[in-house]
Amino acid sequence: MKSWIVAAAAALLASGAAYAQDAHPTFTVGTATAPRGQKAYGVMKVPAGSDAGYDIPVAVVHGARPGPVLAIVSGAHGTEYASIVAVQQLIDAVAPADLSGTLILVPLVNVPSFEKLTPHVNPTDNKSMNSRYPGDLSGTQTDRASAVITKEVVEQCDHLIDLHGGDLDENLRPYSYWTVTGNQKQDQESRAMLLAFGLDHIIISDRPKDPKASRFLENTATTRGKASFTAEAGRSGPVVAGDVAALVNGSLGTMKHLKMLGGIARPIARPIWVEKIVSVPADREGVFHASVDRDAHVAKGAKVGFVTDYLNRPLQEITAPEAGIVMFIRAVPSLKKGDTIVNIGVVSTTAK
Ligand SMILES: [Zn+2]
Repeated sequence: MKSWIVAAAAALLASGAAYAQDAHPTFTVGTATAPRGQKAYGVMKVPAGSDAGYDIPVAVVHGARPGPVLAIVSGAHGTEYASIVAVQQLIDAVAPADLSGTLILVPLVNVPSFEKLTPHVNPTDNKSMNSRYPGDLSGTQTDRASAVITKEVVEQCDHLIDLHGGDLDENLRPYSYWTVTGNQKQDQESRAMLLAFGLDHIIISDRPKDPKASRFLENTATTRGKASFTAEAGRSGPVVAGDVAALVNGSLGTMKHLKMLGGIARPIARPIWVEKIVSVPADREGVFHASVDRDAHVAKGAKVGFVTDYLNRPLQEITAPEAGIVMFIRAVPSLKKGDTIVNIGVVSTTAK
């Protein structure tokens, strides 16, 4: 009897000690609270203000063992469908029992855009949902949603991956962005994370340094000292299995690198580093006809497309301002002044 009591007391102490070591016996994002080793579903509530409030869906996968907190977010642009479906799939791709750490999965930030098939912006206030971070609870819907995401997602995570793709009017080849902050340790970590993600074209980007005016979601995490990156795959509407797989497998690769999952990360060996993006905006309305496909390698001055009026009379030839790779080109004929016609990636001649 006595030895049984001693054994039971010892077991209780041991479990108490284990419990005390766990900084997160549960993990809560919005209305989703996951106990250790479980998954939870919920929403982040964007409060009503000068316009309506709405709910942003969120899933939390709280691994059986402690580890890093990784947020994966998509659908800031609600018609970049491949990235949205990829984060949907990630909710079921990782079992809590296999995970060390925690996943915060947000497949669709811009619900109004998704519902109304509106590219680029939130149709409620006409603002891009990747341009108003860290957000403002006294602003319009996009500002308030950004503030909620900063508090619930960015502040609670150790790392963040922001997934995008070609929007309805963008014929895009996959790539990721590496933000260079000047903090060498953090930059090397984000570099290792995106090499493990595995997209073979990487744009080196120089983004705002002020955490109070971080503008982009990934940059909001980066300026708060959290190694993070952005990746894009998918284009102009259709959900192509290969694009979704690139984003799902890429995310799993980064999780392996972070030791959140077992298995060995297989970082891409020789990515193409793009040191500069040269964007060609439309200076008139008209009908756009592309002459090259995404991923074409073009010389400086090469014709990439042309613009006609509605009666097919030629108005303008569009040429590449610099030599490089067509990262994306306009996927549709609709053209108004200010639309992006093509983004040319200028390849770095030095290894990074
Ligand atoms: Zn986007």
